[in-house]
Amino acid sequence: MIFSWAAGIIDAWLFLARSFKSMWRSAPGDLMALLVIRACGITAPGRRVASVAADEAAIVIEDPAAARYLDHQWIPVHAQTLGRYILARKTLDDHTLAHELEHVRQWQRLGPLFLPSYVAASAIAHLRHRPVYWGNHYESAARRRADLDCATSTPQTSGSSRIVSRPNASSCHWPPESSVPSL
Ligand SMILES: [Zn+2]
Repeated sequence: MIFSWAAGIIDAWLFLARSFKSMWRSAPGDLMALLVIRACGITAPGRRVASVAADEAAIVIEDPAAARYLDHQWIPVHAQTLGRYILARKTLDDHTLAHELEHVRQWQRLGPLFLPSYVAASAIAHLRHRPVYWGNHYESAARRRADLDCATSTPQTSGSSRIVSRPNASSCHWPPESSVPSL
C-alpha cells in the first residue's frame, strides 16, 4: 500500500514538473501572440499542426487581419512565429510552414531567452557584415529544416491536425533572398 502511495506522489510530482517546465518556456511567446491576435481583431481559432520537430502542436493563424501586425515589422514579413503561434496573412505553403515549425521548436527550447538570442544572432551577423535576417543563425536553421523536410517528405493530414514531417517536394522551394521572408 505504501508503495502505491509513493508511486502516486512521484507520478504527480513528475507531471507537475513537466507542466511547469513546458509552461515557463511557452508562456512568454504565447502571451505575446495572444496580445497580437486580440489587437488585430482575429477571431478565428486557427488550426493545430503537429510536427516531429516540436514537442507541442503549433497553432497556425492564417488570417488577412494578421497583416495589421506583420506589416509593421522592422522588415516586411508574410509570417511570424511567437511561441506556439504562427501568424500569417494567408494560407502557408508547406515550405514556409516547415520553416515556421522550426521556429516553434526554437521557442520551445529557449523559452524567454529566444527573443534576446535571436536579436543577438542578428547583431552577430551584422558584425560579420552579413544581412541581419539571412545571416541570422536561427533563420539559417529554419531554412535548413524546411529544405530537409521538403527534400524527404510528404504531408499527412488527420482531421483538423496535420503532421508536417514530410511536405510535398513539388510545393517546396525557398524564395530568393530578394523576396519577402518569414520570421
Ligand atoms: Zn524564419
